[in-house]
Amino acid sequence: MWTYHPELLAAPVPRYTSYPTAAEFGDTVGPADMHAALAGIAEDETVSLYVHIPFCRQICWYCGCNTGAANRSARLDAYLERLEREIALVADRAAHAKIGRIAFGGGSPNAIAPAQFARLVERITSSFRCENPVLSVEIDPRGFTAAWAAILAAYHFSRVSLGVQTLDPAIQAAIGRVQPADEIRRVMELLRKADVGSINFDLMYGLPYQSEATLEATLVDSLVMKPDRFAVFGYAHMPSMIPRQRQIDATALPDGRARFALAALAHTTLTGAGYTAIGFDHFAKPGGALTKASQNGTLRRNFQGFTEDPATTLIALGASAISEFPGSLLQNEKNTGRYHVALAAGRFATARGLRRNAEDRVRGRAIETILTRGIADLSQIPDLTLVRDRLTCFEHRGLVNWEGTTLKLSADARPYARSIAATIDT
Ligand code: SF4
Repeated sequence: MWTYHPELLAAPVPRYTSYPTAAEFGDTVGPADMHAALAGIAEDETVSLYVHIPFCRQICWYCGCNTGAANRSARLDAYLERLEREIALVADRAAHAKIGRIAFGGGSPNAIAPAQFARLVERITSSFRCENPVLSVEIDPRGFTAAWAAILAAYHFSRVSLGVQTLDPAIQAAIGRVQPADEIRRVMELLRKADVGSINFDLMYGLPYQSEATLEATLVDSLVMKPDRFAVFGYAHMPSMIPRQRQIDATALPDGRARFALAALAHTTLTGAGYTAIGFDHFAKPGGALTKASQNGTLRRNFQGFTEDPATTLIALGASAISEFPGSLLQNEKNTGRYHVALAAGRFATARGLRRNAEDRVRGRAIETILTRGIADLSQIPDLTLVRDRLTCFEHRGLVNWEGTTLKLSADARPYARSIAATIDT
């Protein structure tokens, strides 16, 4: 099994859901970049849509998402009204594109009423050129109702991602997210009846008071529910950047060695149960689309994590949502007030981001390939000698090897993949 090399994991590294990462975003881009990027989409190109609902019924203490409490219906109504305005604005300029996928995330899309969600789906599918798109949604099991399941069935949603995190009651209390296992079982039953083909469980390791025994219990109980995919994320405690995390007792967090053991346990348990390991934190049943993409070399990584989505353009709608184009990464206003102001004035709400140059694209492709395939031809990297130098410590420990300019990660390198990819990051 994996060997723990703490010195290789000492430096924090990004999750690389984009390159350059959002930490590099600046305010040198704006609505004109969004106009140009939409105009640059090729005729009949298949692109993906992401729709952000930045509200939740209850706010979990560990959460780093841009979301707020859904406690005032007038606030939600106003947001959805502006979102519809943005849909019209973007659809008008992207009429030449085909929509292959629509993902709803947040926050929690089910913080809004089922009828509001149905109206949103209708508005999007009637505004854009949708050709039988794959529909997916992130769901908070708390408050998920039969009426919600009926909407997902009516619109043929084929993917649902459930925020589970842990099934241990004491850990749930310590992270401010109490949801009994029976609640998850109830939601699974509703989703299976709604004929949702692929259900993902988001789990977490590195939580306060979490031990190998409690993580194993969560994994075993989750496996009984037979989700099609798992994502097992490491909790990142950054209370200075995410103030709500101050409610978590930092003294109860597992240390680096314990975190490593927890990640290894999740890997062993899920692969032992027949799931295929995808990238560094996803697991999927054999025969599913994600596993096939991983096996045939078409796996991708975008803002939603590891994906089989082949589109190189992701148009994102909603406050704080990040659009990805080959030449730019463009983020909407995070602040819902400023998002409202921009759209009320008939402007795109693009506020931050960056333009990607040719070198960014070369580095980004190499990082993505390392994370998705564990092998990458680095011949195009401008400072390859420096990268080779940075990789020596991984090479000495047998985690990578070279064939000419092609870098290969060993089977044991999975927990180090992000650190290895970071050697290519300027
Ligand atoms: S439900 Fe999800 S998005 Fe909302 S606060 Fe909790 S973790 Fe964050």
